[in-house]
Amino acid sequence: MSAIETVTGVYRLDCFGASVVAGYSGRNLDNSKRHLFLGGLGLKIEDLVMVKQVHGAVVLRVDHPASHDPESPADGLITDKKGVVLGIRTADCVPVFFADEKGRALGIAHGGWKGIKQGIVPNMIDFFQSHYGVLPGDLKVAFGPAIRACCYEVGPEFSRYFPGCYHAAGSGKGRLDLAEVIRRQLASIGIGGERIHDTGICTACRNDSFFSYRREHLTSERTLSVISLVC
Ligand SMILES: [Zn+2]
Repeated sequence: MSAIETVTGVYRLDCFGASVVAGYSGRNLDNSKRHLFLGGLGLKIEDLVMVKQVHGAVVLRVDHPASHDPESPADGLITDKKGVVLGIRTADCVPVFFADEKGRALGIAHGGWKGIKQGIVPNMIDFFQSHYGVLPGDLKVAFGPAIRACCYEVGPEFSRYFPGCYHAAGSGKGRLDLAEVIRRQLASIGIGGERIHDTGICTACRNDSFFSYRREHLTSERTLSVISLVC
């Protein structure tokens, strides 16, 4: 794990290099304290761009943050503009961070099972290529805190949705490894090995530090994950 907790509840990912600030919040910095989280990363809340997350596969390009509509339905955000802070809220779903190692563009996606099944991750990769000329081999990807196979109980129909990533249990239900689903999607596009950084954190196991929608029975609190091109 290469996230550094600089201030309590401020986790910075160091896998993208010095020109990118990326990180996620701990539970002491709840929805009312987003400005403190961003401040801990050296970012400003006025620069934060978020969308109405709908568990879909639509990717939005952010060019003019000032005129951006926070009610735009989307689950992925990409920009090439310095200083723009792209944000995704999760509490069990996978925050997926993306950055071009040449610094041309970066993005973030909300990886719930529905959006992942619909292709939000390959859509992000396609978008980088079609809008910014960033090839899959130029990208680095990171997974933030999310519910993991140890805790993510789902129905048997998930064995059809995600073959190989569903692990049957004796109860008739099973466990889903969403991060593995994303890994396989990335591998099929040629992204693997050291280009992927997984924090490995399970939000349900680590409920002392992170929000978990399932563990906490439908909490409205969220982890905020952000990424920004700074220089
Ligand atoms: Zn767990």
